[in-house]
Amino acid sequence: MRDKRIKLIYFSLGGSEVKYIELSWAKVFALASVVILIIAFIIGSSIGLFTDYYQDFRIKSLNNINSTLRSQLKDMRQNVMEFQNKMAQLEVNDNEERVIAGLGKIDKDIREVGVGGTAIALTEETSLLPRGTQEELLDTRSIIGQLERRIQLLIDSKGEIDNKLKDNQLKLKHTPSIRPVRGGKLTDSFGWRLDPFIERIKMHNGIDIAAQEGTPIYASAAGVVEFAKSNYRPNKGYGMEIVVDHGNGVKTRYAHLSKISVNVGQKVNRWDIIGRVGETGRATGPHLHYEVLVNGKHVDPLQYILE
Ligand SMILES: [Zn+2]
Repeated sequence: MRDKRIKLIYFSLGGSEVKYIELSWAKVFALASVVILIIAFIIGSSIGLFTDYYQDFRIKSLNNINSTLRSQLKDMRQNVMEFQNKMAQLEVNDNEERVIAGLGKIDKDIREVGVGGTAIALTEETSLLPRGTQEELLDTRSIIGQLERRIQLLIDSKGEIDNKLKDNQLKLKHTPSIRPVRGGKLTDSFGWRLDPFIERIKMHNGIDIAAQEGTPIYASAAGVVEFAKSNYRPNKGYGMEIVVDHGNGVKTRYAHLSKISVNVGQKVNRWDIIGRVGETGRATGPHLHYEVLVNGKHVDPLQYILE
């Protein structure tokens, strides 16, 4: 049978004596349990302490992150507000350009459409934020959304202005604006006058510019030759004449010519020589009879001479 006792040997501190303690197994177990409990306690409290320390560290670092993020949000908000000011300046410029192009201004209300109206929904994440931060965040997002729309509107407006300016340029190119004969003398204006042929008051549908026979006649704007007549009856009508269609309902007539230099259907530009001054038809001397018609109605050609 095994001995149920255990011998522990230890040396006394002072000497070289060897001492024996005899313990029963029960006592050994009890002692071991106490030792294990103590160790467990030490480990447990260490873990606890470490965990506390770690949590503390985590909280501190999260606090740091949090305050960094909040100050970043403030900075961004500041930037976004600066963008708003710059955007407002761009919108002022845009409205100026619109006016120059002959387009209407865009109202502030229309540009800022949706301001305040676009409540961005609280998400589960943002609802956890402190109220102040939450408001700042949602407000900033709403401003960014609004800036996006304002930028789009600016882009659209720029396109509209470009098109309008091109259109205006084209219109200008096709609008009579010069005196078709260089020099010469304006002998008769537009309106009622005494007709030299019948000696009665009659409507004069254009202006007469007296000039030497053969003086070049220039097209007063870009267009297409709609009509060119070289056969005529003496002392009757316009004599040799040209009609140029400038589009947009605008036409010009050049009459009493001595020579026609263009053909029907031919495209002409302003300053192209289309014919020569003469006295064909009902004329008392060499001159150009010049008419401007808008939507079939005669208007005063002087309104279309901008030199
Ligand atoms: Zn005339």
